[in-house]
Amino acid sequence: SKESGRNTYNFHTEELTRAAENRQALESRLHRAIGTNEFELHYQPQLSVFSGHCVGLEALVRWRPENGTPVSPAVFIPLLEETGLIVALGEWVLREACRQAVQWEAEGLLPGPISVNLSPRQFLHQDVVDMVQRALADTGLPGELLELEITEGALMSQSVATQERLSELKALGVLLAVDDFGTGYSSLAYLSRFPIDKLKIDKSFIDGLAQDERADKIASTIIAMGRSLNLRVVAEGVETAIQLERLRELDCDAVQGYFYSRPLPVPAAAAWLEALRVG
Ligand code: C2E
Ligand code: CA
Ligand code: CA
Ligand code: CA
Repeated sequence: SKESGRNTYNFHTEELTRAAENRQALESRLHRAIGTNEFELHYQPQLSVFSGHCVGLEALVRWRPENGTPVSPAVFIPLLEETGLIVALGEWVLREACRQAVQWEAEGLLPGPISVNLSPRQFLHQDVVDMVQRALADTGLPGELLELEITEGALMSQSVATQERLSELKALGVLLAVDDFGTGYSSLAYLSRFPIDKLKIDKSFIDGLAQDERADKIASTIIAMGRSLNLRVVAEGVETAIQLERLRELDCDAVQGYFYSRPLPVPAAAAWLEALRVG
């Protein structure tokens, strides 16, 4: 029922809040979790609006605590972000995604780059460029098969020389995407100074396509802005044929969402990619 769903959610929130009060406990829990495979990555395909071909996959982390039900990343990522533990989990995510990409590439299954989310704290962390460089070197993944998603909010932060950090990442050959785009306040002038490749329109605007005038207008403006800056534009959270049709009309480059596929565990993702190759 709805009630028990809420209770489950509250239980986890309380449990995690308690854990946050004891950083040490959470830290050992995190390390244990990584060691015992409590975390895994699911992969959600991105498809070209024009051709319908798969053009890449986003890696999304999942946590199933030992003897527990799965906890949503929308709950545990912000907590890890607060405590700084995201840096450790984020490094595991990055290396695991690179390793998987190399394996799929060897099997002839990789249709395009693997996208990995970098949380604000990770992006602002001094070591992020080294971390990415090491992940590529250790796994042998070519930079152009890795895309890093950085939220618009993190890019707007004043605490690091954003432009310089992006350039250092770009020098590794990786692709750079601005995630949750439209929720911040970046200007065209601001964006044009950054060496970015892609904008991901936040789901909140996709929800309102062809329904809500304001959301539709924002989405169309982002797509036009992206085109004028020579950036790819991807719509996230596409759930309906109506939304897809509207995105085709607006000449959006690619879509990601339940309409085509949910994020899939590795065996299902591999089967999905295999079917593409065959069919
Ligand atoms: P995000 O980066 O904006 O990822 C998109 C979220 O939308 C994912 O939720 C995805 O499962 C969901 N989604 C995709 N298509 C649809 C759709 O058609 N309908 C609906 N309702 N949802 C859709 P998820 O996997 O629960 O992740 C939530 C957030 O947690 C992510 O938002 C991201 O901010 C964060 N996150 C997930 N994995 C990682 C990670 O490995 N590292 C970091 N730093 N953050 C992550
Ligand atoms: Ca993302
Ligand atoms: Ca996003
Ligand atoms: Ca989002």
